[in-house]
Amino acid sequence: MLAEKYDSVCQQIRNACKAAGRDADEVQLLAVSKTRAADEVRQLHNCGQTAFGENYLQEALDKIEALQDLPLEWHFIGPIQSNKTRPIAESFNWVHSVDRLKIARRLSEQRPDALGPLNICLQVNISGEDSKSGCLPEEVPELAREVAALPNIQLRGLMAIPEPETDPARQRATFARVRELMTSLQADLPQLDTLSMGMSGDLEAAIAEGASIVRIGTALFGPRHYPNTSAKPQA
Ligand SMILES: *Cc1c(COP(=O)(O)O)cnc(C)c1O
Repeated sequence: MLAEKYDSVCQQIRNACKAAGRDADEVQLLAVSKTRAADEVRQLHNCGQTAFGENYLQEALDKIEALQDLPLEWHFIGPIQSNKTRPIAESFNWVHSVDRLKIARRLSEQRPDALGPLNICLQVNISGEDSKSGCLPEEVPELAREVAALPNIQLRGLMAIPEPETDPARQRATFARVRELMTSLQADLPQLDTLSMGMSGDLEAAIAEGASIVRIGTALFGPRHYPNTSAKPQA
């Protein structure tokens, strides 16, 4: 069941790449395992998946601990409180949800040297929603310059979670704005290589506009069930 869903998502990504005239290896699947048991992550790893995304720190740390025997790559994709940066810096390979300098500085200071630089994407609030995390597009160039200069951070690119939208043309228009922002940053920061955008409902549009990581939960694992309402994500 999980194996079938995994194959079908991989196929969907390959088809989207083909339709966009891109190579299939230009797009990485990040399996979003929030609310899912460690055993489901293990099953998906058995199917060949190595990169997993988590939103809730304590839940993630428990899973990372339980799955230490597997060579997994962990990506933090949820909102970050500044007093919770240390375990993120110590336990993750990537953080997609950095939206202010204070958080990036703490992650850089707290990153253990032995682990090498932490890969970072800046989260941009591309739909301009008040309630969403992410910095405003006009704040991105300065923040990117400052974050790129931090010692234990490797700035990789941008992450966006657009407002839910079912019309493919409008999905694409929003992702195109993220891509254009990235292109303008690359003039000064040519090392940027990652656009983290596209979820279960809009991965084709994201891939058409240049996504290099798609973050997929529901299409892999089925609908999420939250243990309590306070655990509901902001995104
Ligand atoms: C939950 C989540 C996803 C996965 O969303 P699906 O619609 O279930 O694929 C992707 N990105 C972020 C930041 C999330 O919080």
